[in-house]
Amino acid sequence: MSNSKPTILVTGGAGYIGSHAVLSLQKSGYEVIVFDNLSYGHPELVKDVLKVELIIGDTSDRPLLDKIFSTRNIAAVMHFAAFIAVGESVSDPGIYYRNNVTGTLTLLEAMIAANINKFVFSSTCAIYGMPQAIPMTENHPNHPVSPYASSKYMVEQILRDFDHAYGLKSVIFRYFNASGADPSGSLGEDHTPETHLIPLALLTALKKRDHLFIFGTDYDTPDGTAVRDYIHVNDLASAHVLGLEYLLNGGKSEMFNLGNGNGFSVREVIDTAKKITGIDFLVKESDRRPGDPPMLVGSSQKAKSILGWKPQYSDLETIVNHAWKWHQKRHQ
Ligand code: UDP
Repeated sequence: MSNSKPTILVTGGAGYIGSHAVLSLQKSGYEVIVFDNLSYGHPELVKDVLKVELIIGDTSDRPLLDKIFSTRNIAAVMHFAAFIAVGESVSDPGIYYRNNVTGTLTLLEAMIAANINKFVFSSTCAIYGMPQAIPMTENHPNHPVSPYASSKYMVEQILRDFDHAYGLKSVIFRYFNASGADPSGSLGEDHTPETHLIPLALLTALKKRDHLFIFGTDYDTPDGTAVRDYIHVNDLASAHVLGLEYLLNGGKSEMFNLGNGNGFSVREVIDTAKKITGIDFLVKESDRRPGDPPMLVGSSQKAKSILGWKPQYSDLETIVNHAWKWHQKRHQ
């Protein structure tokens, strides 16, 4: 037997946040297996950049999960695989409940059957709904408004019940706005369709799009545009390793916000993107996007004090700069 650290199964490891978490796990010495159905993931990043084993499969495939859990020595699961488009979840909720809830339930049942009881889960600040107080803490009331947010909230409740019934220990991370890219420029964000502000601004700078819309300029915020808490994806990834180690060391089930604690407006993001790229791309003002709160800023004090999390990249310029490196490389 080698002294190497345990093997971690990372579902959705071919996706944006999952791939950065795989890199962080590798840097911390863990063996990683990526499990991804490639509905949105990028296999070339797993094979050529991360160079880890990729099992192509779906979380609804119980026989495949049983086979993996019975033949591989897996100590814990990090679960990123999920559909994430809020608008699509409103128009087609069935696929969100099927994939995000039923798929996760199948995964959890397979884990319990195989006596694997450590689980790190990607959740979202969207479960809080409209903010009642800023910064939002983990005690903020839960009012998910979209089927996407509801699907994440349902899994949180399943995790609570599975701990009581089966002793499944979980760390739930509620992300604010995941952004940026690994500083190497080799991993980053590539969604189809892309809906997020920072990649859209950079794609506009790269002339992949004609213009960028600002969704709402009449919010009750300092410059009238919506304020969000952009958190660097590598800081999310490092929190996942800490959350895993907390569970491996016998920690009880917990949930943590992961945010920057600083709010940035849409205009600030656009100005920063123009500054970093040196390109003055076309910006048009448009109506508010339905369901968008004026301001979302989180407190991550709990992750800092319990997990010892120390985000490294909290300034917007670094986040945009790293994302720009990735987008230039991806679209060269
Ligand atoms: N936004 C925008 N134009 C775009 C995309 C997003 O003005 O093309 C705004 C959006 O309304 C929100 C903020 O940018 O206020 C962040 O949106 P994003 O979709 O990146 O993340 P969300 O906060 O919705 O999860």
